[in-house]
Amino acid sequence: VTAAGDSTLREIFNDSITSGSGSGLPLLIQRTLAKQIWLAEVIGKGRYGEVWCGVWHGEKVAVKIFFSRDEASWARETEIYSTVLLRHENILGFYGSDMTSRGSCTQLWLVTHYHPHGSLFDYLSVHTLDHTALMTAALSTINGLLHLHTEIFGTQGKPAIAHRDIKSKNILVKLNGACVIADFGLAVMHTQTTGEINISNNPRVGTKRYMSPEVLNESINMSVFESFRKVDIYALGLVLWEVCRRCVSNGIVDDYKPPFHDVVPNDPSFDDMKKVVCVDQYRPMIPNRWTSDPVLAGMSKIIRECWHQNPSVRLTALRVKKSLVKLAQEETKIKLEFDC
Ligand code: ADP
Ligand code: MG
Ligand code: MG
Repeated sequence: VTAAGDSTLREIFNDSITSGSGSGLPLLIQRTLAKQIWLAEVIGKGRYGEVWCGVWHGEKVAVKIFFSRDEASWARETEIYSTVLLRHENILGFYGSDMTSRGSCTQLWLVTHYHPHGSLFDYLSVHTLDHTALMTAALSTINGLLHLHTEIFGTQGKPAIAHRDIKSKNILVKLNGACVIADFGLAVMHTQTTGEINISNNPRVGTKRYMSPEVLNESINMSVFESFRKVDIYALGLVLWEVCRRCVSNGIVDDYKPPFHDVVPNDPSFDDMKKVVCVDQYRPMIPNRWTSDPVLAGMSKIIRECWHQNPSVRLTALRVKKSLVKLAQEETKIKLEFDC
């Protein structure tokens, strides 16, 4: 690095520290993490930027590279992952964040555990599930969401966190079939003591296809944190429906479909979704075969209670977990290490 290049770099980093990105990481760590990772291949690409599989100290890691215009998302995800006690077997594991420069561009990196199966969406597109695999996916996802939603009190506690972009593309599948929740770019935090809701300054409010009726018709009460938990539960209902379709019963299985595939176009507009979800109050169809399978029948009851039109009637994450645990114990051979 030339002296000039070095000073440009320093400017970028100093800038980042005073820009209010909120990463709060010391300068040295910011410089070293990205420099120690070798990027191997792109595993996800989109409007947001790219996700790479890389190697760090001989271990595979995932590197999410944000466009610099999306600094707000990067700063938000970094802030959320840096929350004490966010480490959980069903939340994507976080190594660190970095701001680095490539050519003349500033790149924002988020380094996490790498999951070769990719997202639940990717996984369901190619795999079918048996009852045990279905319950493993469902229980692990709700465990992650429950941990997120729960405030833990104490000097080393955690705020309640609502995700606001729950969908099968934001849930990753581990090698053992359990899921982890990822992509915290839109998350909001809340602590009861201050009562303050820490809303990210990111204006995006989630993925239209998964938006709840109260988000679509803008009747949501944003001053009450519980409103955001209910939005996550609605979207969870849609995800569980996607998962159940891929579960084999009596030798039959449904092909993978995203929710509302039959009533809205690809990349639906806000108005497309509003018409279907708010006006027609339509929900994904529960296939007939589910009613003759005890696990799928039990799941469909839980799903309906998640995507209910009225947010105040929707189940809480704890209630969903308890219902799933009961279903797993009664109807499958899953040996649960935990009891509710
Ligand atoms: P965005 O905020 O742009 O939606 P995500 O964090 O959701 O970015 O990642 C985009 C996609 O990249 C995911 O849907 C998934 O397919 C893939 N991906 C992200 N993180 C990982 C990871 N840790 N391991 C494997 N695949 C990942
Ligand atoms: Mg995503
Ligand atoms: Mg995102």
